[in-house]
Amino acid sequence: MKSFFFTLDYELFGNGSGNVFKHIIEPTDKLLAVAERFGMRFTIFFEVIEYWKLKEEWEKGNRMGYDRNPVEAMENQIREACRKGHDIQLHLHPQWVDARWEEGKWTVNLEQWRLGGYAGNDENAVAELLERGKQTLEALLKPVDPQYVCMAMRAGGYNIQPSGAIVAAMGATGIFVDTSIYPGGKEMGLLSHYDYTDIDTGKGFWHVGARLEDVGRSEILEVPIVAFPMMRLKKFLTWERVRGVLGNSRLAKDSLEAKTSTAEKKSRVCDKVKYFFGTEWQTWDFCLFSPSLHRLFLKQISKQKRNVFVLVGHPKSYTGSRGLAYLLKKTHKEYGYKTIREEWGKRGISM
Ligand SMILES: [Zn+2]
Repeated sequence: MKSFFFTLDYELFGNGSGNVFKHIIEPTDKLLAVAERFGMRFTIFFEVIEYWKLKEEWEKGNRMGYDRNPVEAMENQIREACRKGHDIQLHLHPQWVDARWEEGKWTVNLEQWRLGGYAGNDENAVAELLERGKQTLEALLKPVDPQYVCMAMRAGGYNIQPSGAIVAAMGATGIFVDTSIYPGGKEMGLLSHYDYTDIDTGKGFWHVGARLEDVGRSEILEVPIVAFPMMRLKKFLTWERVRGVLGNSRLAKDSLEAKTSTAEKKSRVCDKVKYFFGTEWQTWDFCLFSPSLHRLFLKQISKQKRNVFVLVGHPKSYTGSRGLAYLLKKTHKEYGYKTIREEWGKRGISM
């Protein structure tokens, strides 16, 4: 049976801005409610490094402007989601590793934007990060689900190139599924840096060893995110969103920061317009897409032979639009909805 995997990147904005309640907790609650109506379960990629930082800061007595404990709210939400059968896996944005709370906001380390290349590709440093992340999730979730295991990851901002040290670290920590890439995608900005244009866009998943000869470990799976080419504007349509970016809405701009290439360019309206009318491979985003975009992508996948379709969304970009409910209504009879752990979790790793 053909299956959808609805994956949700659970996080603040990449530059450290955003509010845990407004951009994570509240939209996630709405998404979970839609999922429940259709018996769909998410795979939630929990950004664990910002969680460590928030927790550290809160425990120092810094309320960071919150009137309630944001750390506890995140813990309660993912535990409750896990209890309901959603999957929680590891998401890593290394710019948070050295993040500092200064002058009332988070300053992240933009030099360390990409997990690919993290710590100069030091396999041990990457493995340490993965291991701590895995332990954090397992400590949080095993009390709710004793069978819980952290076995999948997604690099922040799709940045998993170069991947050698990461694949080795995955092998060392027993995290054996990656879902960081979207075939066809390319981003060569100051922050994000990857090129997936030479990857077969018709495959549901593959063994990493079969692609990366230098690694030679075939047990690790890449389960890529579905993408098709389209005009950037379509993804960001609603005009409200476009106006926000062209105008001065800081949060809307923040969410685009990693996508546009230079600081100067972002400030020029004509370049922004050019950017929106360009075409590129776009991930299948159930938080941003309208019903008509879902129809477009459904038509594209009907031509493909594969059975695995990974979609992506971010609570912070979910506006409560009709898109997700439309997609679920349209597909729940024909497609299965699965989580990453449900599909691959029983497979152990043998070295
Ligand atoms: Zn992310």
